[in-house]
Parts: sequence; C-alpha cells; structure tokens
Amino acid sequence: MAADGISRLCHWGPSIALSIIFALLSSTLYSILIYWRSDDMEGPLNLTILLIDFLLIMYNFLTACLRGPGRVPPRWTPDNEGDTRYLQYCDVCEGYKAPRAHHCSKCQRCCLKMDHHCPWINNCVGHRNHAPFVRFLFHVTIGCSHAFYLQALSLYRTFFVRTHWMYRRLILYGPLAVTANLLCCGLTIGVTLAVGILLVTQLLNIRKNHTEIELWIMRKVKSVKNKNGNSNSFHFPYDLGWKKNCKSVLWTQEGDGIMWETRADCHQYTLTMKQIELKKDKREHTYLYEVVRNYHGSRDYFGICFGCRVACSCPNPDEPRLCVKQGDRVMVTRIYKHWLYGNRVLSHLVENGIGPTVRPRQYSKERGWFPRTCGAPINKRK
Ligand SMILES: [Zn+2]
Ligand SMILES: [Zn+2]
Repeated sequence: MAADGISRLCHWGPSIALSIIFALLSSTLYSILIYWRSDDMEGPLNLTILLIDFLLIMYNFLTACLRGPGRVPPRWTPDNEGDTRYLQYCDVCEGYKAPRAHHCSKCQRCCLKMDHHCPWINNCVGHRNHAPFVRFLFHVTIGCSHAFYLQALSLYRTFFVRTHWMYRRLILYGPLAVTANLLCCGLTIGVTLAVGILLVTQLLNIRKNHTEIELWIMRKVKSVKNKNGNSNSFHFPYDLGWKKNCKSVLWTQEGDGIMWETRADCHQYTLTMKQIELKKDKREHTYLYEVVRNYHGSRDYFGICFGCRVACSCPNPDEPRLCVKQGDRVMVTRIYKHWLYGNRVLSHLVENGIGPTVRPRQYSKERGWFPRTCGAPINKRK
C-alpha cells in the first residue's frame, strides 16, 4: 500500500504540482518578510492565513492522490445474475462495470463513479476522492489569490512606498529576488485562473450530480435524440436536486459506490441501459478504413508531417495516437476535421478476409487518432 502511494507521487504530475506549490509558498513567505513590521499585525496575520491554507492544500492533495476513487472489485457481478444484461463488461478487469463506473486506461482498472483521470494527482477522480479533490481546487484558488495579493503588495511597496524601515530591508531585496517575485506573481495569476475555471466546472457538475463522463454521455443522448427526431425525454437518474447533490458529493459520500440513489422515475440501470443503446448506435455508425499511408503515432503527435491543416486541427492532446502502417484496417468511430479515431482490426482477421463484418470483440485494444489522409473508407458497417 505504502509502495503504491510512493509510486503515485513519484510521477511528473504530482512532482510538478508539488514544486509549484512549494515555489509559490517560499516566494510568498519572502514577500511577507520584506515588509514585516513588529509594530502591526499585518505580517503575522497574513503568515497564519497562508500557512493554514498551505496545510489544507497539502492535506487534500495527498488525500485525493493516495486515497484514489475506489475500484470495482475484480470480477464483480451484480447480486441478481439477470441484471448483467443491463451492464457493460470490462475485458481488462474481467468483470462487469458497476453503474457509474468506467475503465481508466491509465490506471488500468474500473474506477467507481469515475469523473476523470487527473495527471496532477496521478490518479482518477471518483467516488472516494471527489470531495478532497474539489476542496484541493478550492484552497489552491484561495491560496494563490492570497499569494498574488501579498507578492503584488510587496512589489508595490518596494518601488513606490519606501519608508525608512523598508528601505533598510532592500538590502535583502536584490534584482534576483525582484525577478523571482515578478515570475511568481505571473505564476499565481495563471494558477488561480486555471484552477478557478476547473473549480467552477466541477461545482456546476456537482450541482447536477453528474461527472465529466456522464456530462459527455448526456450530450451524446441529446445529439442522438435530435438526429433521430426522437422527442422522448430522458432524465439523468442521479439528479436529486442541487442541495442533496452537493451534500452527497461534498459532505456525506454515502454508499458503497456501486449502487446509487436515483430519481423516483428511474432505476439503478437507467443510465447503463442508455449507454448500451448509445454503443449500439455508435457501432451502426462505424466505418472500416484501410490504411494507405504510414503514421508514426506518438512520434508525430501533431501530424506535422501531414501539413499545417492537419497539425492545426490536432484533436484533444490528452487522447492517444494510433500508429498505423499501409495495409492495416481500422474501425473508425469518430471523425474530426482532418483526423480519424478508431480501433485497429486484429491482423489475422484481415488476412482471413473477414473485413467489414468484424465484431467489437475482434478489434485490437490499440485505439487512437491518426490523420485522415492515411485511410481510405472500405465499407459502412451494417
Ligand atoms: Zn476495467
Ligand atoms: Zn485513472
């Protein structure tokens, strides 16, 4: 367990996050000392607030990182065997995905009520660590705003309000310290904005009790509904009203993370059944492509070898790239401007001439984006 925790922290994400936190803390402490006066309470008061916030940031950061979201037990099946028809099966974990659980390709496991995989904590955000993660975002936003105020104030006082007691302290405040102070000022603005936006997004999701993934599913439900001209309304089953939603995510965190309280007009499997329906729709809109030009995947992440138009329309950098070579076949599920996203079809099936009739289990687990010019459509999947 301890070894797992250490390996979680020994990763570029938590290392950079902790380095930024400590750099901003030390720079702000220095700023406080610049105008620390023994005859007023401003210095001690700011120092106390800053240190309390720092402790809360560290506590919530380590809790979110080390506690994790909680995982679906290996080879999990619902109590009622018949309910398995409402659930999706995870080939990697060799078990059914519980309602609201999703498989994380980075953590290589099915996570309970998965929100997203956060590289900064090198873990998924989900059922067990959602509250500490949101508290971490809150305290970082407050702490960085406070740090910016203190650093900007110390710079202002140094250059424009040089009192006798402060002038003596300028010996300590050379060009190097001023440069570091200016850089940290910029960094605090950047961190406050980036983390603040993420905090607002999280709070808006929590208000409706949906995760980032469920938000995407609901958008998909709406788009399919509009495409088919279907007017039937589908309600998100876990939206219990904003007060109850906020309480259940941020405060009580009741339940085992497998079964959830739902609206009166829904049941445990309302959303999982909808997900299965969406997957079916997706399969019906999947195209088989033959690769006509090689693409080196992560070695040419932005597709620069394929021209400016391809590089400028590069899809989400967080999603994988698929290395393809001439003759490969790929089941394409998404098309974005000059890019295609799909799963490679297992090569022995191509050799056997099975082609467009491949079933989902016959795809390779390798999936990702590749430039559209690399593939030529063969047939639309029926
Ligand atoms: Zn899994
Ligand atoms: Zn993950």
